[in-house]
Amino acid sequence: MSNYQSFETVIIGAGMSGISAAVNFLKNGYENFLLFEASDRIGGRIHTIDYEDGILEYGAQFIHGQVDNPIYKIAIENELIDEYYKEILYESDEDLSKHNGLKINLEEKERLNLFLNENGNKIDNNLIEIAFDCLNRSIRLAEKYSITNPLDQDLKLGFFIYENFLNLAKKFLNIKDSEVKNNLDCLFLWRCKIENVENSCNSVNDLSLKNFSNYIELKGSQIIEPKRGYKSILQQIIQNYEQKFEQKLKFKHELNKILLCENSSDCKHSKFTKDPKKIVLLFNNENVVLCEKIILTVSLGFLKENIKTLIDPISYVPLEKLEVIERQGYGTVNKIILEYETPFWDDNLETINLIWSDMDRENLFDRLDHVNFDVKKRWFEDVCSFEPSINYDNVLIGWICGNSYHESLSDEEIINECTLNLGKFFNKEIPKAKNVFRSKWNSNPLFNGSYSFYSYGSQPDDIDILARPLITENGAVIYFAGEATHPEFYSTVHGAYLSGIRESNRILENS
Ligand SMILES: Cc1cc2nc3c(=O)[nH]c(=O)nc-3n(C[C@H](O)[C@H](O)[C@H](O)COP(=O)(O)OP(=O)(O)OC[C@H]3O[C@@H](n4cnc5c(N)ncnc54)[C@H](O)[C@@H]3O)c2cc1C
Repeated sequence: MSNYQSFETVIIGAGMSGISAAVNFLKNGYENFLLFEASDRIGGRIHTIDYEDGILEYGAQFIHGQVDNPIYKIAIENELIDEYYKEILYESDEDLSKHNGLKINLEEKERLNLFLNENGNKIDNNLIEIAFDCLNRSIRLAEKYSITNPLDQDLKLGFFIYENFLNLAKKFLNIKDSEVKNNLDCLFLWRCKIENVENSCNSVNDLSLKNFSNYIELKGSQIIEPKRGYKSILQQIIQNYEQKFEQKLKFKHELNKILLCENSSDCKHSKFTKDPKKIVLLFNNENVVLCEKIILTVSLGFLKENIKTLIDPISYVPLEKLEVIERQGYGTVNKIILEYETPFWDDNLETINLIWSDMDRENLFDRLDHVNFDVKKRWFEDVCSFEPSINYDNVLIGWICGNSYHESLSDEEIINECTLNLGKFFNKEIPKAKNVFRSKWNSNPLFNGSYSFYSYGSQPDDIDILARPLITENGAVIYFAGEATHPEFYSTVHGAYLSGIRESNRILENS
């Protein structure tokens, strides 16, 4: 007998997938498990901050879709979202809004959705309408193409969209006119930044055309914000099992090593237990725990960085799984949240979209791919938009994707750069923000980024391979959960939730 704590199952990570797995166990009366979390809070990439009378979200913000979305169901049944969402909502022009979540309402567009360039000029409405219609159609074409033409060879999404975009646009505009072409390119670049944010990639060319239709968008509104923040959803999930859940949860336990038995007398595993079917878990606080099954919910970013030292011996991990971990996409989306003494924008403003107009500096695709991009000087160009918070009237939320350099800057430097640039776009002197709240998902070693995507060169069954349990010859099993393991809803909270249920059910079925 060893002196170490031993459980049948251990869950690693108390983000949405770890929580859903733990609660599913408790619901089913299964208690032979513990849940370890490296940090001192639950939620992981759900990170709601209480601030004054409202909340700010550093991570997940929206419930994406209503029909068959378990998160929507929890939210609506428990009045965590506005009653307004009882109806399944479709945007006024679903086709237009389907991919970027912007409701482009023609009458109100100019007032609600500002499209400005860095010289303070508004972009011509007619051009915006045509360009976005063509862009959205070319994105839909890409989805269709990836369904109807299963490709042997993958293609980079950006090239595909751009070609179709120009082909569509030339039916309405004289694209031989250099000014028109320049404007179209600028709008294309901006629209690609939205696509970057949605997919958490640095460039649309990092995305796989072949796998572009794998993500399934659930019907209904894509932008439902829980009234008291995403953490209210977590609390609701835990609520009925709160006491037991708290007993099972251990904070500040960062897993450093998973030791599997190598069936040799000198294997590292044997220093801790003689039982070959036990898995040995070594934590950063020197705690050692034994178990037979693990549900590993750490992010794909964490796996990319640590898999080769995390699982020992690594030879137990099939090569194809290691290849998927390396190949599958995972990037960083961040928020820059600016608080002002008083708002300097129109109170009907929905979004300020920042359209950089100076295309002379470089080739379009070099810009998309950040080739020769001096990130220290130009990081702000990757901010695609700012939108007023629904919780505060003096707060703007900026979305940035494409570079993470800004994470290394001080708050003061961020505020100064935002003041300078927003002043240019609004073409007026604007006040300095009194506070900035920022997420830093890339530099946080527990995440190393924001969420996953199908990268250029990936294969359709990559996620299935990633999600496949790893079974040793001694019967020890590592189960993989987390958003990156859901084949249709990767990148989302509902995907993470369902992956936790899936893996905990696998264990329940075999217990
Ligand atoms: C900026 C941003 C915006 C987003 N917006 C949305 C949105 O609007 N809607 C939406 O549906 N989704 C959104 N997402 C994605 C969503 O947040 C995630 O898909 C989901 O929360 C992931 O949950 P998870 O359980 O898979 O992983 P995580 O939340 O990453 O949970 C994993 C947990 O493991 C812990 N951990 C890591 N390493 C270790 C270790 N070695 N030992 C122990 N514990 C460890 C981490 O601390 C973390 O708590 C957003 C994400 C970000 C970053």
